[in-house]
Amino acid sequence: MVRSLSILGSTGSIGTQALEVVRNLGLNVEALAAYRNITRLEEQIREFRPKTVAVFEEKAAADLKTAVSDLSVRVLSGMEGLCEAASLPAADVVLNSVVGMVGLRPTLAAIQAQKNVALANKETLVAGGALVMEAARKNGVKILPVDSEHSAIFQCLQGCPDNKALSRLILTASGGPFFGKTKEELRKVTPEQALKHPNWDMGAKVTIDSATMMNKGLELIEASWLFGMPASRIDVVVHRESIVHSLIEYVDHSIIAQIGLPDMRIPIQYALTWPQRCTSPVGQLDLAKAGTLSFYEPDYETFVCLRACKTAMERGGLAPAAANGANEVAVSLFLQNKIPFLEIGSLVLEAVQRQPDAPAASLKDVLDADRAAREFVHYKTGI
Ligand code: MG
Repeated sequence: MVRSLSILGSTGSIGTQALEVVRNLGLNVEALAAYRNITRLEEQIREFRPKTVAVFEEKAAADLKTAVSDLSVRVLSGMEGLCEAASLPAADVVLNSVVGMVGLRPTLAAIQAQKNVALANKETLVAGGALVMEAARKNGVKILPVDSEHSAIFQCLQGCPDNKALSRLILTASGGPFFGKTKEELRKVTPEQALKHPNWDMGAKVTIDSATMMNKGLELIEASWLFGMPASRIDVVVHRESIVHSLIEYVDHSIIAQIGLPDMRIPIQYALTWPQRCTSPVGQLDLAKAGTLSFYEPDYETFVCLRACKTAMERGGLAPAAANGANEVAVSLFLQNKIPFLEIGSLVLEAVQRQPDAPAASLKDVLDADRAAREFVHYKTGI
């Protein structure tokens, strides 16, 4: 079991819940890293006493240095700081819960330093899946899923004799706040409406991704890399109650599901304690109280992002990196009220269509495809 860990993205939704898990399990925190929320980071430093911290924004890093000058903690900054925090010798595992492509290089740094990675940063696998999985294989390290759906599949797979016994993965999707809506009804959606998720409390980027179902699209690609399954053998089913976290089907058509209350502390904890199980503060699921569980076909026509990701996954190569890059910019423009909700999907789909077929052979290839997709969105919207 893990004794000591580094957490990247510690001030976000997953990061703060990870620190609750750390507190419950009594683990040692070697390093913390954040984008720029130094107020919360300082509180975390004073409680968990890491020896190293990293802040992505230079100015925020300088301010933090002053704020914690009474403590013996090293304050690093920028991408280099993040990568160094990801590769400290004393950490057994690196939990990467950074949001967006910015998490790719720190993930690779952790793998190269031969750390197991508890991965919540899905963009890492979407854009750089080929590089990350190959590096993990070469360095003999594990990528342990933190995303609730992937943790569910990982939990279902314990005891699976080999991948040949597996016929299909089934990812559940809550459907987000706009389940059942038509395109026409979604034309005038505001960021405030899109930010209200029925079941999960998450950061802004992930919540918008959930409203567009881009999140499920990214998770399809993530699942394909994590479990070595082709697009054709991964299905999505909408499940409104978020009780069934995902399922696997064996060749005999027996289906195994992982179920429980929607609480991220279970998948976070399992990524840290695997293969062991520990007690947790998460409540017990009362099946009789849950009553009915409902399942629906996803609407690929209305939720264009999901369709775009499916296409990107089937095409492979750099297409997923293009989908992700375009989405990151489109979501930020939508949150600033600069583009309508439905334009996120059209931009992502067009970015995928424009991306030429090419393998993701190097980090430079991935970063170039990501940049080209971002530039395309700025060009197309004129913003
Ligand atoms: Mg998820």
